[in-house]
Amino acid sequence: MSSPNHSCSSPIECSKVRFAIAAVTEAAQLVRRIQREMVVATLAKDDKSPVTVADFAAQALLGKRLEETFPEMGFVGEESSEALQSAEGRKTLKQITELLQPNIPGATPDDICQWIDRGNGEPTENFWTLDPVDGTKGFLRGDQYAVALAYIRDNVVRVGALGCPELAGGMRPEKGGSGSLLVARRTSGTFVRSLEDDQAAWRQLRVSECIKISEARLMQSVEKSHTNTGGIGQLVARLGILAKPVPMDSQAKYAVLAAGGGEVNLRLLSNLRPDYREKIWDQAAGSIIVEEAGGRVTDLKGKPLDFSQGRTLAKNHGVLATNGLLHDDLVDGLKAINA
Ligand code: AMP
Ligand code: MG
Repeated sequence: MSSPNHSCSSPIECSKVRFAIAAVTEAAQLVRRIQREMVVATLAKDDKSPVTVADFAAQALLGKRLEETFPEMGFVGEESSEALQSAEGRKTLKQITELLQPNIPGATPDDICQWIDRGNGEPTENFWTLDPVDGTKGFLRGDQYAVALAYIRDNVVRVGALGCPELAGGMRPEKGGSGSLLVARRTSGTFVRSLEDDQAAWRQLRVSECIKISEARLMQSVEKSHTNTGGIGQLVARLGILAKPVPMDSQAKYAVLAAGGGEVNLRLLSNLRPDYREKIWDQAAGSIIVEEAGGRVTDLKGKPLDFSQGRTLAKNHGVLATNGLLHDDLVDGLKAINA
């Protein structure tokens, strides 16, 4: 077996991987700059505007970079410029326009709306999907968040990249550090390097080799409305898992799983929103990052994630990601508690 987490001088070479690396690095650095400039000043007022500005700015930037590099490909992003058309929205749009000038000199408010709305379409056979700021609550709290980009062809995720400004080595939380960039290409592996040093060596990631269910380290959403923490508690008791689940925002959970810092990431359906269906941009990049590091990602019944259903995973029920070795134990446990 190849040694885990070994250094690698050259990551996977392919134009889409190169694009994902450059675009996610640029967007994550932009989002981080916005956080540093705005969050401290507004947090005390329970003001959500920094995350709104960051979300729109990052989607506009990606829309622009895709238009330049892959103009023929589809783009599915979380945001739409409609909210920027109101009087309040026009103020936000002005702020976004100013913040984007270093990246796109001369960008106008109309350009920005057009780049954001490139992401409004339905999935096609060949497209990119973006969560510009995944884990918005974490972003506001100064905890984990991620810029998540994936390329999907024929309903299969082929490339994924996660920019995690508050993780070190794809694993250890590192607030205010240089952050982690993770990238995966189907059949070529998952790699990590510093988000701020494009000369840094890539390191290939491998999931944990833990085979004892009692020793599994679980991760779950911080937000109670995004999962069923009671159900996870029942599962932990039923399977005799010793450690308490670790709460963490965003697809940073998938980064930690890929890097061997945990074995299980669970999304049980919240009792508050039993009809909720996962959005493709919340799962596409994270799922390939875990799979290419040797892990497994399915829904709670063990069914593969089905990316052929438009903007949501309409045919799936929750999400289960593991190091692979513990997957069947988890599916059995979930069945037993009727999750
Ligand atoms: P997390 O940080 O793991 O809680 O995941 C954040 C993502 O959860 C956001 O990007 C939302 O798209 C998604 N989300 C929002 N509402 C729900 C819900 N009711 N159930 C599951 N996920 C949700
Ligand atoms: Mg999200």
